[in-house]
Amino acid sequence: MLVMRTRSNTKLGRKCDFCNKEAVEFVRYSGAHLCSQHFAEFFERRVKREIATQIDIGKRAVIGVGLSGGKDSSVCLYLINKIFSRHRAVRIVAITVNEGIEGYRVETIEAGKQLCKTLGVEHHIVSFKELFSREMDEIAGRDRRRACTYCGVLRRKALNLASKKLGCTVLATGLNLDDTVQSILMNFTRGDVEKLARMAPHVHVQPGLVPRILPLRSVPEREVYLYALLSKIPFSHAVCPYADLALRNQYRAIIEILDKENPSVKFGILKSHDEILPLLREKYQQKELQPCKICGEPSIREICKSCELLEGKVRDEMESM
Ligand code: SF4
Ligand SMILES: [Zn+2]
Ligand SMILES: [Zn+2]
Repeated sequence: MLVMRTRSNTKLGRKCDFCNKEAVEFVRYSGAHLCSQHFAEFFERRVKREIATQIDIGKRAVIGVGLSGGKDSSVCLYLINKIFSRHRAVRIVAITVNEGIEGYRVETIEAGKQLCKTLGVEHHIVSFKELFSREMDEIAGRDRRRACTYCGVLRRKALNLASKKLGCTVLATGLNLDDTVQSILMNFTRGDVEKLARMAPHVHVQPGLVPRILPLRSVPEREVYLYALLSKIPFSHAVCPYADLALRNQYRAIIEILDKENPSVKFGILKSHDEILPLLREKYQQKELQPCKICGEPSIREICKSCELLEGKVRDEMESM
């Protein structure tokens, strides 16, 4: 039997609070001991609730799922498929972005392919090379510390382009509670309050932008991992070589310190953000988007963020020659 042995469930060796089976998880923030079946039900209930509050599927829908091949996006696709595969008016497509990161992406793409094959979900792969003429390793070059900044912006654009091409009405990504809370704090401490108002899930549909939903937004990362293992979902454990340089690691560390003392802290941050969100959206009303002068994609400014980054990169490289 699989049992997660971490500091949060040192009280295991106990029975589930709802049946006679052995508990596989101690949920610190609720005090519940859960067996694998009751843990899965608890997990799925929250994801279904999130999806129901974030989208109204309507009569016909094409749900795109950003699939990196890691645990989060794999669980996201698995559950979207479990919930919607019997809806005849819903089509599900998985989209993988190959950024071109040596020693990392090949393995995760294989895991994604395997999952799609098992589930019978159509799978599309797009690459930075075909969209931006350069791979991530080339873009990062010697500027490794900024790799995630480039990668995040370009991957968002790649996913949006692919989703539009495939006719997706909505795009689901696997961001979990930990990712979401880190992003909230990063925007907050940077003083980028407007960005707090723009975070997914998106309520307003902007022309040219496929609205994003986050089905795993309220489930902690460790529970996503446990659910993936218990459900035997194939996923890759590979870690991106740039991951240890990401700024969000510092935020992750701070939040984990707070979480040790207060297991509800992540939910508290998310709740606070959701409470002030209507006020933020009122203050920072969605600006009309215009086509980027370089690529034609919708943008707040004359030049979109990805073109700005890529153009700046080329300029820096020319100047350093
Ligand atoms: S860790 Fe950074 S560079 Fe690696 S895939 Fe994630 S965002 Fe991209
Ligand atoms: Zn049980
Ligand atoms: Zn552009």
